[in-house]
Amino acid sequence: MPLYEYHCSECGQSFEKMMRFSELDLAPECPHCHSRETHKQISTFASRITGGGAAATASSASSCSSGSSRFR
Ligand SMILES: [Zn+2]
Repeated sequence: MPLYEYHCSECGQSFEKMMRFSELDLAPECPHCHSRETHKQISTFASRITGGGAAATASSASSCSSGSSRFR
């Protein structure tokens, strides 16, 4: 089961909770104040995009006009 981070807007605490896929639409109960005013946090590793490599800089000017095999 994936672990999700939730933030309680009632007491301002954050907590982690294992959620089943069938329970993802439900707001879990806050373990601190037992409120249902909880919101799922966006996972932090998804917002970091590593990359930006300049690999697609192939400046190949394709000007070789093949096809004139027999010419006069
Ligand atoms: Zn709370």
